[in-house]
Amino acid sequence: MRVYLNGELLDRSEAMIPVDDRGFLFGDGIYEVVRATGGRLGAPELHWRRLARGLAGIEIRPPAGLSERALSELAGRLLVENGLERGDALVYLQITRGAAVRTHHFPPDTTSPTVYAAASAFQPPDALRARGASVITLPDIRWARCDLKTVNLLPNVLGKQRAVAAGADEAVFVRDGVVTEGASTNVFAVFGSEVRTYPATNYILPGVTRHVLLEAAGALGVTVHEAPVLADELFTADELFLTSTTNDVMPVVTVDGRRIGAGRPGPLATQLFTALRARLVPDAAGGETDGGDYEAERIASGSRPTRSHQVT
Ligand code: PLP
Repeated sequence: MRVYLNGELLDRSEAMIPVDDRGFLFGDGIYEVVRATGGRLGAPELHWRRLARGLAGIEIRPPAGLSERALSELAGRLLVENGLERGDALVYLQITRGAAVRTHHFPPDTTSPTVYAAASAFQPPDALRARGASVITLPDIRWARCDLKTVNLLPNVLGKQRAVAAGADEAVFVRDGVVTEGASTNVFAVFGSEVRTYPATNYILPGVTRHVLLEAAGALGVTVHEAPVLADELFTADELFLTSTTNDVMPVVTVDGRRIGAGRPGPLATQLFTALRARLVPDAAGGETDGGDYEAERIASGSRPTRSHQVT
């Protein structure tokens, strides 16, 4: 496997970072995961904008030359180098504050960020989507900047492990009685003709898939309210589903062992999955993400929206 590290393409076995890299010592970095299908990246502009916002959020100066275009070119190059132009693949990118003598405060300005990227083959979870996922609920013990995609993922790691140990597929976090998001997914609940998902505040990651799903739902005439879902309400939902780059739309059929809705993937989740894929893989259905008014930017401006998306 060929990977990218600090300006070089090299064999994975040769890619080394110093032990005093701040990503290793402090989890002091930002990452992205972008999906590629048939060699084409899904909504790259949204991923790169979130990356830039994350770097600014933790005050890492973006490395020179890593424009959005350069990032897409780099991702494309990794796909080609690894023979991943067909089928599905994931491109992982991580930027840390670099390697320096260990201090909690920032290292000298001369410290170069570490930039690492790799691409790997990916099998979408179609079988699980067909039968529906199981989730458990857990207290959201994370910090108050969940909108930044930092490599500091310990609560998410522990939550996912709790889910796996319980025979479930995802952990859904609950803060003050309200469902925020999953360990690596955003959460949507359907009540009759109403769909709700937690607003894009500092308490969730503004998922790229979440954003594209809101667009897709709007185009279908489905109103999605960016408003809280109480943990207790989960059990009264007609449908529940998760979104993420690796799951697209994943219907949920049990929460804490209790059946949701009819106990099988719901019609809206299925419809939205098709609409989402059409937008993420424009060649397939002529769709395209508009990339406009991305939630990540609204958080940056400090707003706490509760808004609804309606067809125009
Ligand atoms: N929420 C969290 C905590 C995540 O880690 C992720 C993805 O890893 C998501 C939501 C979904 O984001 P995206 O749709 O951009 O993959």
